[in-house]
Amino acid sequence: MTHSRRDAFKLLGAGAAAAALPASGAMEVLPASPGPAGYFGLSEVKLGDGPFLRAQKLDEAYLLRLEPDRMLHNFRVNAGLRPKAPVYGGWESVDPWIEIRCHGHTLGHYLTAAACMFESTGDTRFAERVDYIVAELAECQAKTGGWLTAFPDGVAPLADSLAGKPFPGVPWYTTHKVLAGLRDAHLHRGSKQALDAFVKFADWIDTAARDVSDDRLQKMLDREHGGMNEVLADLAEITGDGRYLRLARRFCHLALLDPLERGEDRLDGLHSNTQIPKVIGFNRIYAVSRGGGGAYDRAAQFFWESVVNERSFATGGHGDFEHFFPKAEFPKHLGSAKTMETCCTHNMLRLTRSLFERDASVRYTDYFERALYNGILASQDSESGMMTYFQSTQPGYVRLYHTPFDSFWCCTGTGMENHARYGENIYARNVDSLFVNLFIPSTLEWRERGITLTQATRFPDSDNTRLVFRCKEPQNLRIALRHPAWCETMSIRVNGRRAVKSRLAGEYYYIERRVRDGDTIELRAPMRLTLEPLPNAPANSSSEWAALMYGPIVLAARLGTAGLTPGSQLIINERESGTMLNEKVDIPQWNRPLHELLANTKRTNSAELRFTTTGFEGGKSVELIPWFRMTQERYNLYWRGATPDGYRSQA
Ligand SMILES: [Zn+2]
Repeated sequence: MTHSRRDAFKLLGAGAAAAALPASGAMEVLPASPGPAGYFGLSEVKLGDGPFLRAQKLDEAYLLRLEPDRMLHNFRVNAGLRPKAPVYGGWESVDPWIEIRCHGHTLGHYLTAAACMFESTGDTRFAERVDYIVAELAECQAKTGGWLTAFPDGVAPLADSLAGKPFPGVPWYTTHKVLAGLRDAHLHRGSKQALDAFVKFADWIDTAARDVSDDRLQKMLDREHGGMNEVLADLAEITGDGRYLRLARRFCHLALLDPLERGEDRLDGLHSNTQIPKVIGFNRIYAVSRGGGGAYDRAAQFFWESVVNERSFATGGHGDFEHFFPKAEFPKHLGSAKTMETCCTHNMLRLTRSLFERDASVRYTDYFERALYNGILASQDSESGMMTYFQSTQPGYVRLYHTPFDSFWCCTGTGMENHARYGENIYARNVDSLFVNLFIPSTLEWRERGITLTQATRFPDSDNTRLVFRCKEPQNLRIALRHPAWCETMSIRVNGRRAVKSRLAGEYYYIERRVRDGDTIELRAPMRLTLEPLPNAPANSSSEWAALMYGPIVLAARLGTAGLTPGSQLIINERESGTMLNEKVDIPQWNRPLHELLANTKRTNSAELRFTTTGFEGGKSVELIPWFRMTQERYNLYWRGATPDGYRSQA
């Protein structure tokens, strides 16, 4: 690269669109996809003050309230060791006759969450907890020969499933959580003992499955088994031992892989959170196979496209009562109290993240951002720090959260992890580029390059973001600024110079320069109000149901607290809603075309996102705030408009 003047920066744009840009330096047409990219480690990114840091702090406090010895109780019992504290309640001690049997899953999630929290914050209390749990598990393994379970019947569910006998619950789902916890204790805490325990358990599985026929194994995989293929592929990469990759392939459920690989969406009626982890595993196997395994790649990409574009609500969440429903039936499910399981969003984000690593396309981060705000940040009670299971689309409903010690749902476990790893997707890098992906206050310490980048922003309450670079020596860098698809024209100002406009919505805007200490880039990404129709609406009723969005932020109407005692009754023991929520709530009705809803909605506060919509039936108006801030209050998410001839189809 040559520079036309000492301080020039190049406006590289992206793809063919680059040629249309005004430039103060030479231009270069880049390939439409920047290719693979890697994320930074959690220790390299620190969150600044804002909603994500607040969520992280609530999660820190919750993780520190939990007692490792209580989570270890049944692991010790099964290994013939004396437990040191009573077991927790909820799914950790549910009666053995209940079909949901995933005793011990919490320990795996906790290991992941605590290891990530240690890497994110540097707080050694989390490292101590990880080390303690790993040492305890190693003590159990010394007795069992490798397996680690907390099931009421020890190792029997694993052994019986491999033997082709009837088996209770979801033993491989839980085993995946334990293995993933050990993997993360190794990757995020640097625990050698965790890697040893991971290898020991995987070796036990490898031996136990060796003489099991592929047919029998496939039959076993009809039951939910988490991301067993994913952790085994990870272990193959960590150890370089191809034996684990072969085992990972054997743990791939062909009933899902085959149709996806052919580009056939047969997801209707399937349990969603059973499928997503398998697909994460397909993608990992492809990545670890280094160019082999195109079928895994095709399946993962097709699945992502199908779920994101055709099966998701405006929030990025999907499903009803944990299952995929027929794509044309969205309106029928809006009234359900059990739409949008939070685990599913968690796992879709993990899949998105791993797809981005292979192909750093803005569309992945666009979805990531949408689901991060409207699904993950939204899942935590801003007072108690407790987290959701479902996030219901039912008009007049309210979010419900788990109890601290007597729930331990699947979503409690993934929830612990969610708020410990916000730092990992804000930035990414490849050989020549630094990607700025999310507008989140943070500081990136890029140690390898000696660059510190501080991002200051009040996004989404403000559309400005300021990036300040610190470095001892000037150095050449290509900075890839994400221009989100929701923003028409983004303006970019370097060191206070006249702003340039990017019209590359949905692509990266590249700046190539010799970065000097103190260099500043100011971004403005104006948001606008839009209507987000339900996916797959028939052509003649495409405007019948829609949610209101402001940029990537879903807006919800505040409908008060009638019949609720905020706090106590919203923290619940089980997934059931409780009849207290069935109180009749007056839902404002919009009896006009939806585009008029958009025209009647105005922002009313410049400091934070607040809107008012006027013109509802009876002259009513409603206040709207971001859906992610809607806690302990009734809400409405989707609006039904009248089609031009006044006809309304029956939902
Ligand atoms: Zn869940």
